[in-house]
Amino acid sequence: MKRILITGAAGFLGSHLCDFFIKKDYHIIGMDNFITGSIKNIQHLFPIKNFEFYNHDVSKFVFVPGKLDYILHFASPASPIDYLKMPIQTLKVGSLGTHNLLGLARVKKSRLLIASTSEIYGDPKVNPQAEEYWGNVNPVGPRGVYDEAKRFQEAITMAYHNYHKLETRIVRIFNTYGPRMRLHDGRAIPTFIYQAMNNKDITIFGDGNQTRSFCYVDDLIKGIYKLLLSDYHLPVNLGNPEEITINQIAKEIIDTVPDTKSKIVYKKLPVDDPQVRRPDITKAKKILGWAPKTDRKEGLKKTYDYYKNI
Ligand code: NAD
Repeated sequence: MKRILITGAAGFLGSHLCDFFIKKDYHIIGMDNFITGSIKNIQHLFPIKNFEFYNHDVSKFVFVPGKLDYILHFASPASPIDYLKMPIQTLKVGSLGTHNLLGLARVKKSRLLIASTSEIYGDPKVNPQAEEYWGNVNPVGPRGVYDEAKRFQEAITMAYHNYHKLETRIVRIFNTYGPRMRLHDGRAIPTFIYQAMNNKDITIFGDGNQTRSFCYVDDLIKGIYKLLLSDYHLPVNLGNPEEITINQIAKEIIDTVPDTKSKIVYKKLPVDDPQVRRPDITKAKKILGWAPKTDRKEGLKKTYDYYKNI
């Protein structure tokens, strides 16, 4: 039986990864310190024999007994609200945390996949963003704590690959949504759904013409699995290339939530908010044979149904 360590296991993506690998018959070692995650996301896994859990901060020394075939490093605050509140932890988990897991991967001879982000492209000067684009990041702006931690994470991972010949994979994840995102984590889709469900104003920052590309979580998880099993060590973008404006997504959410009385209002744009965001997924298509399949209407409905029932 394959054994896999998943850091950030109690978070949005980490918990979906745990569910996915349990179904694939892996033995899972989940690790999380709950700074942004919740036990509710994984409590259904505790009775399962092939699931173990460590409440541990991966920015401190990490060790687990037994063999480890794979490590997925997903621990990190991920929404602007979280990383602006926890700038040092964010920098530490991307740098020290990644270093610890690289060390563990060396000892255990495991393959390590790290969760990078489209935010490494910053406020991009090219659209869509292909993996060859180096980005436009302000290192000392408020978002720098996340963007630069992830850029360092990629750099040290490549260094271990080149110097120590470690097997590594780098996924650059673009905006992903679905059940288990926290309603109050500040990301657009949960915030708009919460506002629409409670007949509150839908708050758009800026004029709403900035664009995003939203990928449904199940699609992303399948792409991560394919990348993990591939033999490709350079970064790969995973996301949905269908680009829409924030105004449009707000309207679609109003249409998804029955009988909402919410109206759209506009507020001042935060500093360094990217104007455009759209993945070029040519590489993922070619190397992994992957493309997202879930239609946004269906994805939004599934996400809304989750919030309705919690
Ligand atoms: P999340 O906040 O739901 O999950 C992150 C998890 O990591 C939480 O459970 C948190 O408690 C845990 N964590 C944070 N620091 C830790 C530490 N030092 N030790 C142990 N656990 C720690 O966020 P998410 O959306 O699931 O994001 C997961 C990963 O994917 C992050 O690395 C994020 O940067 C990356 N990512 C996510 C998206 C997205 O759209 N969701 C986009 C790009 C990249």
